[in-house]
Amino acid sequence: MASLPRQIVRCASAAALSLAELVWPTRCAACDAPGQLLCDRCRNALPYIDPLLACPRCGAPYGAVQCSECNRATLQHRGYERYPLDGQVSAVSFDDASARIVRTWKDAGERALSAVIGTFVARSVPPSWIQRSPVVVAVPASPNAYRRRGFDHGFELASDVAERLGLSCAALLDRPRAKDQRNLTGAQRASNMQGRFKIAPGTASLHRPPRAVLLVDDVCTTGSTLFSAAEALRLWGAEELYAATFARVW
Ligand SMILES: [Zn+2]
Ligand SMILES: [Zn+2]
Repeated sequence: MASLPRQIVRCASAAALSLAELVWPTRCAACDAPGQLLCDRCRNALPYIDPLLACPRCGAPYGAVQCSECNRATLQHRGYERYPLDGQVSAVSFDDASARIVRTWKDAGERALSAVIGTFVARSVPPSWIQRSPVVVAVPASPNAYRRRGFDHGFELASDVAERLGLSCAALLDRPRAKDQRNLTGAQRASNMQGRFKIAPGTASLHRPPRAVLLVDDVCTTGSTLFSAAEALRLWGAEELYAATFARVW
């Protein structure tokens, strides 16, 4: 039986939650309708990426037969000899609704959305990757973004995805020392992120590199952030690098 002080604390937190719900009722992150964090109408209307039509390597929607985003010419143009990931998927295309969901989560402080977004990401991960038992690794927020938001959305999302998939989660990467990516062009993003991720201090001496890694992030814009994170993990010794994001810009 719970002790009396603990019962009092539980009752107080339940009362605080009810009060918060009364003052700030739960609203849909996409359309603002009251009731759910993501209403059924908006959930059904999201632009889901069909894995059967997507590129099996880079996850580009409709790239299953011929992909213009990860072919040799595109990679050479971006300065890569090979695609930096062994597989990449996203749950939805980036549109107004998915953008609003991400903004409400990261910038409006609706942290409960981690679980909603985590469900989408976990469902998009192919079973063949899960069988490889990858360690789920967050793409950490930059020090500025972390200070501005007061929480690291990347770690919350990665932990949620790992729990849903029954995989372990580890904070293996240090925060990137790079400029804010939001107002940069594709080429600027690539050079801004190149070599910006490092293995977290102390990690290399305490752990061996995992054989397989599943990088998790909210949005893939050009792939530069994921590529840079994958590069650091591959240099350390990880052999298979997969990535899953909630939304993808294309
Ligand atoms: Zn809605
Ligand atoms: Zn592709």
